[in-house]
Amino acid sequence: MKELHSFGWYASRVAKKLPKHVLKPVPSRLWGGLVYLLISLAGLTSIIMFDMSPWFYLLIAFVLGNSFASMGFLGHEILHGTVVKKPWVRNFLGAVAFWPLSTGPRLWRKWHNMDHHVHTQHEELDPDSWPSLRQLSKIKILRWIYKLPLPVRAFFSFLSLTITFTMHSLRMFVVYLKEFKSTNRPMVVVQLILPWVTWIGLLVWIGPLKWLFAFVIPLLIANFIVMAYISTNHRLNPLVPVNDPLANSLTVTVPKWVDALHFNFSYHTEHHLFPAMSSKYYPMVKEHIKSMWPERYHEMPMTKALVTLWRTPRVYHDDGTALIDPYPGNVYGSLGHGLDPAKIKFQKLNLKGTAFFLKKGKTEKA
Ligand SMILES: [Zn+2]
Ligand SMILES: [Zn+2]
Repeated sequence: MKELHSFGWYASRVAKKLPKHVLKPVPSRLWGGLVYLLISLAGLTSIIMFDMSPWFYLLIAFVLGNSFASMGFLGHEILHGTVVKKPWVRNFLGAVAFWPLSTGPRLWRKWHNMDHHVHTQHEELDPDSWPSLRQLSKIKILRWIYKLPLPVRAFFSFLSLTITFTMHSLRMFVVYLKEFKSTNRPMVVVQLILPWVTWIGLLVWIGPLKWLFAFVIPLLIANFIVMAYISTNHRLNPLVPVNDPLANSLTVTVPKWVDALHFNFSYHTEHHLFPAMSSKYYPMVKEHIKSMWPERYHEMPMTKALVTLWRTPRVYHDDGTALIDPYPGNVYGSLGHGLDPAKIKFQKLNLKGTAFFLKKGKTEKA
């Protein structure tokens, strides 16, 4: 196995090759946010004020869905401090950008900046990592779900991407609230409640049919778009004992116009090396990483990453480098550990024992 290095190890080596200005905030990113805000307000106003054919509403809902997702990507960037530096301005703009996804800036910074970035793909400490067989064996409902055939699980997990971000965000609120100082907790609660109050208020104002097109369908679309990135960012990579972004992250590639719409969110390995750098500069960082560590770097087209995600099971086995479909006992590699998206193969292990131990709420090593 290749020796693992921390993100700081890579960042210090790449930083020497970059111009100094790339670490400065880039407030001009806000123009993109303003455009999305105006599009969203125009879309919402059209649905609220005019009675149109449902097909036209649906078209507006798709535009709103992409705008909500893109504002979330900008909110992510803003809350890393790469757009403006003043904390209150950063938090205010982050709250506006995350309003459609109803995620508060304080919660997001704790969950994402402090835990996901610091403990990426750590079995227990990364709030976004997928469970290992050991964790799965402890949860009865998951033990039952994993008895379903892989394609059935893949279908439902892809369908659930339309609600995953919202559900995970609400779960993070419950998990993290007690970790805030008691003096800060009211603000964290207010930041969750305020967006929901406006969306529920909108329902009361315009009724369920218009609300479906103004909020529900756009939210499902936005969830799917952000989760298409988030689920391919790390889930094909291994769990790692050292937070090595070249081992635990995947950069997906999308057409240039999609990168423009989504604020370069596809450059995820680059983001984990330099979370405090504007994503505007990630194409430059990518060039350097690819020339310095070509054998370690993982990138793949988004479509291929989604197909690979569909075709591989989502639970880690052994030391976190393999993926396992526990009941048939099929073991797949992860990126850097034998997973080839062009030719997905699995090894059949004699894992009658695995199924047995899963039943008992325990696991064994294959
Ligand atoms: Zn990440
Ligand atoms: Zn981030």
